[in-house]
Amino acid sequence: AAEEGFDVADVEGAIEAAGHGPLPVLAVVGRPNVGKSTLVNRIIGRREAVVEDKPGVTRDRVTYEAEWAGRRFKVVDTGGWEQDVLGIDASVAAQAEYAIEAADAVVFVVDVKVGATDTDEAVVRLLRKAGKPVVLCANKVDGPSGEADATYLWSLGLGEPHPVSALHGRGTGDMLDAVLEALPDAPEQSFGGALGGPRRIALIGRPNVGKSSLLNKVAGEERVVVNEIAGTTRDPVDELIELGGTTWKFVDTAGIRKRVHLQQGADYYASLRTAAAVEKAEVAVVLIDATENISVQDQRIVTMAVEAGRAMVIAYNKWDTLDEERRYYLEREIETELGQVAWAPRVNVSARTGRHMEKLVPAIETALAGWETRVPTGRLNAFLGELVAAHPHPVRGGKQPRILFGTQAGTKPPRFVLFASGFIEAGYRRFIERRLREEFGFDGTPIHISVRVRE
Ligand code: GDP
Ligand code: GDP
Repeated sequence: AAEEGFDVADVEGAIEAAGHGPLPVLAVVGRPNVGKSTLVNRIIGRREAVVEDKPGVTRDRVTYEAEWAGRRFKVVDTGGWEQDVLGIDASVAAQAEYAIEAADAVVFVVDVKVGATDTDEAVVRLLRKAGKPVVLCANKVDGPSGEADATYLWSLGLGEPHPVSALHGRGTGDMLDAVLEALPDAPEQSFGGALGGPRRIALIGRPNVGKSSLLNKVAGEERVVVNEIAGTTRDPVDELIELGGTTWKFVDTAGIRKRVHLQQGADYYASLRTAAAVEKAEVAVVLIDATENISVQDQRIVTMAVEAGRAMVIAYNKWDTLDEERRYYLEREIETELGQVAWAPRVNVSARTGRHMEKLVPAIETALAGWETRVPTGRLNAFLGELVAAHPHPVRGGKQPRILFGTQAGTKPPRFVLFASGFIEAGYRRFIERRLREEFGFDGTPIHISVRVRE
């Protein structure tokens, strides 16, 4: 590798980084205008020169990768979250809820020029109840004179306020040291399997696609439906269900069992809950109502599962009511709207009649197998060598970038690192992904390919 321009440390570092799997997640929360986005930009700093293809349908990216003192983590910027739908308080509470569910640690930003408001106090209560580590950022301390204001924030009971100027960078280093102490080395990710207990399934889909019907069908019993009042916290409850001779854990079924009636922002809360369920699961079963047009919301849910790197099965429900015409159009829609996840095993079911329920477990098993597939380095490089020889990258500016070698750095989902002699175009990266799938399977799993380019 050295003579190709990569030294051993580069290569090992890249493999280690790519194989690390899910990084710990830091959420930055706070009221509007306290400086969250400014702080996030400061934390991210220079973007890594790694080209990463995240297959997905839509790309609402809210997380960034960051590194401090040699440790990598993800940062969730809640700064751009919509406020007008729910009002400021609800929006800030939703950020806190997200942080509580999805983040490993939280930076709570307060504007020292304003001081702690009632909204801030309310968020503090939520955060403390959740027990997630919190680093208190006293922002807009642009000079020494502001530090006295920061000390008032001791009163929030979150420990030491870290005086910071997100705008100028003052104090951010010390604050990031505290963040690293708060972040776990790796997020809790004890995936199931042979020794890890039951495999975890998230049953997701937009409201009314038939999630609770399906759950009742597979669980073999009817359950009482409980009404719930907007805004109350829901205890996530997992259910163990035996299917096809194996016990599976359906995660966060409380959110499915209970009907949440919200006049506003129902979709928004539903999507927070979906994100949390997906985080906890190994495989997502995305339920789509086959009688209705595939919507942007369906695509968002699919994208969530893909971006979280989970195995995925797509189940088209209410098949009992489809006529021939709808079936025809559905196939077209699937091609155009969900073509990018054609790798996901598909089942056409009816939660009402029980149609094809028996196909669900084999599809889930296929997806999990793809998710765990590991290609030995020798085989991968033999394949890459032939591929590159038969289909070289187009010449650009008199040069021909080449894939030099590659390795699979991790599984769950499969993650590849390719080393190249020049910038590899997106089209060619997608081509490689397609060929990897043709060669090695990977049914039911997203695959990550990052390309390191010799500088
Ligand atoms: P967000 O709504 O919490 O994401 O806040 P922004 O990051 O958009 O910042 C809101 C405003 O505060 C912007 O005008 C920023 O320039 C300003 N701001 C952010 N951080 C600082 C800081 O450390 N010092 C000062 N003086 N202004 C800041
Ligand atoms: P959820 O909001 O995703 O949990 O959806 P529900 O399970 O509450 O189902 C919404 C509606 O679709 C209910 O009226 C169900 O009776 C109906 N439904 C669910 N599955 C099927 C199905 O397979 N066929 C038909 N015809 N209706 C279904």
